[in-house]
Amino acid sequence: MTASEGQARACPIFMYHNIAQAPRGLRRWRSLYVSPGAFARQMWLLKRMGYTGLSMSDAMPYLRGERSGRIAVVTLDDGYVDNLQSALPVLQRYGFTATCYVVSGSIGRYNEWDADKLGVRKPLMTAAQIRAWHAGGMEIGAHTRSHPHLTQCDDAQLKDEIAGSKSDLEDQLGAPVTQFCYPYGDMNDRVADITRAAGYAAATTTQRGRALVGTDLWHLPRVQVARHHVLPQFAMRAFTNYENKRHQSVRYDSERHESHRA
Ligand SMILES: [Zn+2]
Repeated sequence: MTASEGQARACPIFMYHNIAQAPRGLRRWRSLYVSPGAFARQMWLLKRMGYTGLSMSDAMPYLRGERSGRIAVVTLDDGYVDNLQSALPVLQRYGFTATCYVVSGSIGRYNEWDADKLGVRKPLMTAAQIRAWHAGGMEIGAHTRSHPHLTQCDDAQLKDEIAGSKSDLEDQLGAPVTQFCYPYGDMNDRVADITRAAGYAAATTTQRGRALVGTDLWHLPRVQVARHHVLPQFAMRAFTNYENKRHQSVRYDSERHESHRA
């Protein structure tokens, strides 16, 4: 890839988790939180720079190279209630869309897969709140049923987690669910094949970088937005090749997995 290709044909897929103030006393994982004010400033900057924030489904023609334009994809992982409360009004203010990836076995519950490790129980949207997000013009994507490490699942478990979460959410919404996100970014070719066979259109990882147009739709990298990123850092990640360079220089290892999880 040349620098000019990277500049012209790269699309940031932003990865958020909680849009909220980090709880007091939370020592680790604070990076998973972006404050409502910071999120609003980031969306404002995108709009000001001539970008439109899009959900994964709305972005598909751009990612496939069928359309071109200044777009950025907005994704939020896990389905937290704060996404509905604090991200939805901002997205609507700017005419943006976004994809929230929901864990279908934890609807109306909390982050059971990492609450102990984080030391905080974070409320997840109820079925009615998921429908409110969708009715507000936003997309629901699937994030499995139980947030497992998918590469450690056998084929039957993979089908249950990947196809099962799709049908669970489609039942809740009465609408197709065509976008998928691998928990922890943990995937391989076998996981990708089963995801494709389940009828999804694309899937996102936690690999760092901006997505290149025409790239592998089953291995889409993202740009993590963290609590400590001030607006110039957000802009650098959004509009330049900074994240792709980081990707080339940093190996995927357990430490990175921890600091850059989904
Ligand atoms: Zn997740």
